[in-house]
Amino acid sequence: MQEIAHAVYQIRVLGAQVWLLADEPLTLIDTGTRGSGGAILRALERLGRRPEALAWVVLTHYHPDHLGALPELLRACPRLRVAIHAAEAPYLACPSALPNPIARDYRWLRAVVERAWPLVRLRRCCPVHVQLRDGAPLPDRPAARVLHLPGHTPGSSAVYLPEKGVVLAGDALERRGGALGPPGRPFTEDMAAAHASIARLAAADFETLALSHWPLVPRRAASAVRALAERLG
Ligand SMILES: [Zn+2]
Repeated sequence: MQEIAHAVYQIRVLGAQVWLLADEPLTLIDTGTRGSGGAILRALERLGRRPEALAWVVLTHYHPDHLGALPELLRACPRLRVAIHAAEAPYLACPSALPNPIARDYRWLRAVVERAWPLVRLRRCCPVHVQLRDGAPLPDRPAARVLHLPGHTPGSSAVYLPEKGVVLAGDALERRGGALGPPGRPFTEDMAAAHASIARLAAADFETLALSHWPLVPRRAASAVRALAERLG
């Protein structure tokens, strides 16, 4: 567990990194793959917090390495409420409708994932208490904002903490070999939209950029995103 800004913790779980906003209300961003609940509960314990204290989980998008542990967290954390972008809220209510996440050009990989999909998608319906929209504050957190960054998925969203200079961007970008780039092509539904989202993110002012599967950009992250946006032009 790494404190990437005051009271913002990055936690390694199965298949991803998630974040905990440890000031009130205690808020988790993403859950990791199914089975990640234990690591998240241990992180809470290390911070001296009980499962009952976890108030919100905000999901960056529907992929199973981001929401797979949601059912186990809902069981363990009785006060937990769920927020996801409005475009993807229906998938939680009806997990059998979760679409295959592989881009249409990758037919072979798409067929493999199609066969395995029933094993990895959510097995039960989950409530959505708040449907997020671009520019809206996070639930009960007026200083934090949702940035809708569609492309990787239609509802992909980042959490922007302007007062801490932090963006938690999920899978909207990669940092392969130390350099920022657009999200991986096989897993990205609409690459043109993903590029446009990077240009939108480049307009925000922030210092630190955290990604779900890549090393942190601790400083001068906005200028790195601006340079990428210009390159993608
Ligand atoms: Zn993803």
